[in-house]
Amino acid sequence: MKSVHRIAHDLAIEAIRQARARQYLLHIVMYCQSDACPAREIDIYVKDHDQALLPLIGDGMCCPVCGRQRLRLQSVQTRRERQIADEREARCSVNRQLRRAKLPPGALLAESVADILDDSLPVGQDGDQ
Ligand SMILES: [Zn+2]
Repeated sequence: MKSVHRIAHDLAIEAIRQARARQYLLHIVMYCQSDACPAREIDIYVKDHDQALLPLIGDGMCCPVCGRQRLRLQSVQTRRERQIADEREARCSVNRQLRRAKLPPGALLAESVADILDDSLPVGQDGDQ
């Protein structure tokens, strides 16, 4: 019977394998599970022209800070998928800043889910549409 850690590792490898099948440029986000390690998130940018990645990480990856084999997958995306997500998050951030800028000094910004997910491009210099 597989341990929970082994199942999580196998699922992570499968997610990376599927992302690698889409593109050879990947963005992998890992986190260290060691309580004694201050590292929490490790971003790895991969260029895997020769398909060397999966054989290298098949048994797990060591944390670059503590050296323990305690890294777990948080997310994996192709570089293009990451770029699209980054641009969307940037638009959401700008829209949030524009809403905040319209508030009187000291007022708190109350946002709906629709506000938080608003990734439309601002129209006009002051954000009015
Ligand atoms: Zn660590």
